[in-house]
Amino acid sequence: MAMNILLISAIALSFTFLALAFEPSPLQDFCVADPTSSARVNGQVCKNPASVVANDFSFSGLHMPGNTSNPNGSRVTAVTVAQLAGLNTLGISMVRIDYAAWGINPPHTHPRATEILTVIEGSLEVGFVTSNPDNSLITKTLQKGDVFVFPIGLVHFQRNVGTKNAVAIAALSSQNPGVITIANAVFGSKPDISSDILAKAFQVDKTVVDQLQTKF
Ligand code: MN
Repeated sequence: MAMNILLISAIALSFTFLALAFEPSPLQDFCVADPTSSARVNGQVCKNPASVVANDFSFSGLHMPGNTSNPNGSRVTAVTVAQLAGLNTLGISMVRIDYAAWGINPPHTHPRATEILTVIEGSLEVGFVTSNPDNSLITKTLQKGDVFVFPIGLVHFQRNVGTKNAVAIAALSSQNPGVITIANAVFGSKPDISSDILAKAFQVDKTVVDQLQTKF
């Protein structure tokens, strides 16, 4: 009997930890972010519901192409809780991604979100890499109207495989998904990660690391 109770407690506890791996469900209709609050919580403080207006739940401008004149030839226009306060606590957000001809959205990961992407214009080579030890590359070329999902936490990328501009819209399962661009995090940290460490990690000469560090 005591063993059964112990077992049930252990199972219940494991489910508690599972649930805590994701954001808890909202306990109210909404919690429009109040960026002026000095209170510090895990996320954003709620604005007084009495002063909430329709514009708190709206964002305009995703019809506008982003400026892709940069080394990657791409631009992400984000609509997260920072741009749309009404997303606070709702566990969802959206981006528009513009790609110049052969532009890339470089390898990156979202620490807090799965991403589902659809091609609106052009065609994209997309992919993600599974975690250690397999590091399998799952890749596909998408056409207009195709949908692809990048599982939470995994490194992923897109490339415009065409000579015209491409456009994608993606939804992410967090109001604040976060982005870690691999090259920037590894070679562009402030201050630099010691080149001894990176030379060993990437199995290259230190001069290669120094060169990469000057670029990011
Ligand atoms: Mn992404």
